[in-house]
Amino acid sequence: GHNEVLLSVNGVKATYNHAITALHGVTFTVARGEIVALLGANGAGKTTTLKAVSNLLPAERGLVTEGNILFQGLDVATAKPADLVRSGLVQVLEGRHCFRSLTVEENLVTGGLGRSGGRAEIAAALEKVYAHFPRLKEKRHALSGLTSGGEQQMTAIGRALMSRPRLLVLDEPSMGLAPIVVQDIFRTLRRLNREEGLSILVAEQNSTVALKYADRATILENGAAVLSGDAAELRNRDDVKAFYLGQS
Ligand code: ATP
Repeated sequence: GHNEVLLSVNGVKATYNHAITALHGVTFTVARGEIVALLGANGAGKTTTLKAVSNLLPAERGLVTEGNILFQGLDVATAKPADLVRSGLVQVLEGRHCFRSLTVEENLVTGGLGRSGGRAEIAAALEKVYAHFPRLKEKRHALSGLTSGGEQQMTAIGRALMSRPRLLVLDEPSMGLAPIVVQDIFRTLRRLNREEGLSILVAEQNSTVALKYADRATILENGAAVLSGDAAELRNRDDVKAFYLGQS
């Protein structure tokens, strides 16, 4: 069962520039072994929540003003983002950042550089990424900037996997991608979850696909968590259908 809490977000309020309140008290958990989706419209606060989770807000003068976020008991506000990565909390930022002038394989290797262990360990990690994303193996010598949007998203995810996450956090992996590519990526995420025990927190505007693959979900509206529950139950609620499962 899923009971050991890996991540807990507890009543988090956050503001930008001491002026704009982006989060008004967000609470949810991710248990070990779960896929949890954070849903909501554009501007609902998904990205702000994920940035707070990785302690990335201060860089853009954002601030958690109330509440706290614990990852395996560690208060993330007291940790450097790089230390969080080392402890297993790894985020794929919105917009599938890759080094465009590096090859796919070079991009992946940069994700493994923080690991202890040498060449052999990095090679083994690469093979594992290629096993989950055969497409990346085919494209491994291509410059990332010349690969498709889907391949760049896979590269960004693969690079995160290279640092051996316990909790993988993804911000809108479906953004700008064709539906078939989105399904492919989510299917791979679920395989990583089921086969490797990887826990996943994914923010998505595409509620239809997120609720299809997630175990649980939290819906944000105007910076507040308005609904949380099992993905299967949420999928069948009339209000969720009406507001979130419209056309996508
Ligand atoms: P998106 O789908 O655009 O990523 P989101 O649900 O992730 O939307 P956020 O990006 O977290 O929403 O934005 C939440 C609120 O915070 C919005 O009102 C937004 O305008 C505001 N906001 C976000 N980033 C900043 C910033 N750097 N400075 C000021 N306000 C910001």
